[in-house]
Amino acid sequence: MATIECKNLVKKYDDGFPAINDVSIDIADGEFIILVGPSGCGKSTLLRMIVGLEDITSGDLLIDGKRVNEVAPRDRNLSMVFQNYALYPHLTVFENIAFPLRLNKNKAEAGNIDEKVRRAADMLDLNEHLDRKPGNLSGGQRQRVAMGRAIVREADAFLFDEPLSNLDAKLRGQMRTQIAQLQRTLGTTSVYVTHDQTEAMTLGDRVAVLKRGVLQQIASPRELYEQPINLFVAGFIGSPEMNFLPAHAENGQLRTPIGDLEVPEGHYKAAEGKKIVLLGVRPEHFEDAKLVDDGIRDHGTVFTADITHTEWLGNEQYGYIRYDADQEVKGTLDELAKDLDGDEFNPQVVVALDSTSRIRGGQQAEVWMDTRKLHVFDPETGDNLT
Ligand code: ATP
Repeated sequence: MATIECKNLVKKYDDGFPAINDVSIDIADGEFIILVGPSGCGKSTLLRMIVGLEDITSGDLLIDGKRVNEVAPRDRNLSMVFQNYALYPHLTVFENIAFPLRLNKNKAEAGNIDEKVRRAADMLDLNEHLDRKPGNLSGGQRQRVAMGRAIVREADAFLFDEPLSNLDAKLRGQMRTQIAQLQRTLGTTSVYVTHDQTEAMTLGDRVAVLKRGVLQQIASPRELYEQPINLFVAGFIGSPEMNFLPAHAENGQLRTPIGDLEVPEGHYKAAEGKKIVLLGVRPEHFEDAKLVDDGIRDHGTVFTADITHTEWLGNEQYGYIRYDADQEVKGTLDELAKDLDGDEFNPQVVVALDSTSRIRGGQQAEVWMDTRKLHVFDPETGDNLT
């Protein structure tokens, strides 16, 4: 097992644009780190720099305290698990798993190979398939063979590049649980690139969010969700996304296009004196006002909303409220939407309502917002002011 230290890492490809721009991350021994961010933000580049498949333009990479910038990939003792599995089609499952051991015989003698492969296969529930070829396996089984190959190497760290993205949703869920258990059992330092919010939130001890090669925030999943450092992280983490509303402070309230809000003093102070701020509020911090207990109603504000439509999902439902975005923040919101998913900003609020709510599309309804959970962002810097 190993620590991995990225110190001011920079990667410039031929076009000179830094795909990784001054990224510093200290990964503890045994820690599970997730790298997330929109397509092209540099996740795979950073992973490939760690494993040695990309040169480092500047900065230092230390594994167990030793600088490895110029050390060849095979001498870094790291195991990479790819999304396309990278299995040899003509070899059996056994031989695929044994492959790294056969390449490096002085590390394990022949008898040892058999034992190691069977132990890994046991952990991954592959014992019955050892004589099969990859072509006769399901996607999930192939991914487990790729994992087996990483395990037998007894590498200092595992590096995963979107390992589950070729699997269907159900299998992804099963494999996710298996990877989490395996990592806990083996305690091997792991770095995992994903697009998938659920993988990021459930697998990682910490999650690093990247935007255009720059590290935005690295924190536990809960901290990222509850205390996003800026607009970008706030919008990226969470599904459905956090809602953003232009607002300004006036007479003790925050004025927004969907209503005037009573907010805690700290939130008011954060907005006070500014021409305009952006309020961030997650869908689950709204509720059908009729269903809110008296005990907590006072912690928020009730407003009347035009509900355009609702979506019923069984365990909850989403209601949609449209509003007119202030021109002054439209630019910021468009920019944010482009960074997050390449689309234009859609000025609507998504509210998660209890499944028993009778609010329906095309109606006016009383909606409650838990204003304690609001975030106040500076539209110019994107900083979270709360
Ligand atoms: P995705 O989620 O789509 O896989 P990513 O976050 O992993 O994206 P990278 O593949 O690391 O992103 O790419 C980061 C940036 O570097 C992108 O702008 C990409 O176009 C660029 N890039 C990646 N590989 C090369 C290369 N070999 N030569 C030039 N530019 C590259």
